[in-house]
Amino acid sequence: MVKTYTCHSCGKTYAKNLDPDVYLKGNCFDCSFWLLKTEYHEDLAERRVVVDGNHYMISEVKNTYPQGFGGRQFIIQFFDGRIIKTNNLWSQGTIPDRFREMLPDNAVFLDPDPKMRFDVETDEKEK
Ligand SMILES: [Zn+2]
Repeated sequence: MVKTYTCHSCGKTYAKNLDPDVYLKGNCFDCSFWLLKTEYHEDLAERRVVVDGNHYMISEVKNTYPQGFGGRQFIIQFFDGRIIKTNNLWSQGTIPDRFREMLPDNAVFLDPDPKMRFDVETDEKEK
């Protein structure tokens, strides 16, 4: 018999059939995946983008392939005032309701239309 566990967050029964490191405390893989995102350190948190409950990360790797969304350009306006332009945004999916409060929206996408004028800080000159 496979040993099963009950997830502390969602109550789902799960087996630890993946690398034990992916299970955060008493949580199933899905919940661990999202809980880890709430524990990001400052440097990672700065690259976290949450728009309409969807979670994205701006990759710090530049000009390499593959790029997120096929290299599509996004202009991201963070609620803290930062505006970041990137062509390397990666989607991690929709945040489950139970984690929304821990991972609230922090940004909106701006229209990447080049005719629109924004004083855009590109992520290339950031580091
Ligand atoms: Zn769970």
